Amino acid sequence: MEGTPQRPSHTAELLQDILERARQLPDEGRCADYIPALAKVNPDYLGIAVAELDGRVHIAGDAQVPFSIQSISKIFGLVLAMERVGEPLWQRVRMEPSGQAFNSIMQLEWEHGIPRNPFINAGAIVVADALVSHFSASRSALIQFIRQLANNPLIHADDEVWESERVHGNRNAALAYLMKSFDNIQSEVPAVLDHYFYQCAISMSCVDLAQSLSFLANKGVRGGSSDVVCDQRSAHRVNALLSTSGMYDQSGEFAFTVGLPAKSGVGGGLVAVVPDYGVICAWSPRLNSYGNSHRSMFMVTTLAEELGLSVYN
Ligand code: GLU
Repeated sequence: MEGTPQRPSHTAELLQDILERARQLPDEGRCADYIPALAKVNPDYLGIAVAELDGRVHIAGDAQVPFSIQSISKIFGLVLAMERVGEPLWQRVRMEPSGQAFNSIMQLEWEHGIPRNPFINAGAIVVADALVSHFSASRSALIQFIRQLANNPLIHADDEVWESERVHGNRNAALAYLMKSFDNIQSEVPAVLDHYFYQCAISMSCVDLAQSLSFLANKGVRGGSSDVVCDQRSAHRVNALLSTSGMYDQSGEFAFTVGLPAKSGVGGGLVAVVPDYGVICAWSPRLNSYGNSHRSMFMVTTLAEELGLSVYN
């Protein structure tokens, strides 16, 4: 197409090639099984999507199959809470990497119930509390927000995953009660956990995720539209937190090797924001020891290398 830059025109072929290379990798790692419903997912699913800011979407493999977004939901909760609660949120959750596992309790005790950042579980539970306290129906507010962003009214939480999280959520309950003891949870803990487990259980495809997060690549404005999702400063802040804390305890290595704000979830999804270009989302359920998907990491890393995508270039 005349006037179309070289880079996007071969993106679809490139995605297919990278997906095939990912498929050939050894079957390292395994599905998350501490939430039993996640262990039932076919580990061979493999998909990738790129949503560019001009509205074009490129896909390969299982990019349109919904999967459990898990921790990726922490981005949506955070953006909604930042818009509704504003600056006081940062009195209750900090913006530092934790250097600990995403569900660690020790640091929270030392630091008087103030989580290191909104992307570890404790931080996301504080954000969930902010939403539960602000909205009369926080789950419905969040799902409406996500549906609008993705332009997909069918997005919903998977009941089986939601129930599985509830039944096996003792560690998250421990985090929430510990924070409540430090007065950093305002609503009743069961209601906060219910919201948190619900958001983790939302299912979305790579295409849904890439499209719904385009505003982070576009200074807060939804890609291909003039819809303001959040102000430029909020988008900057979320990207900064993603860069330092989005990839569990492998965030430093991801910044070092790839250099894009990114978030992964134990469902095997990985989203990466490329400012002024778009959003990449990859999915493959087998996880490494940090909780990041092996093949999703490979696909995003390879695509970023091939296209020269990094915020540090
Ligand atoms: N629902 C999971 C938990 O709370 C989310 C973990 C994740 O994806 O990091 O443990």
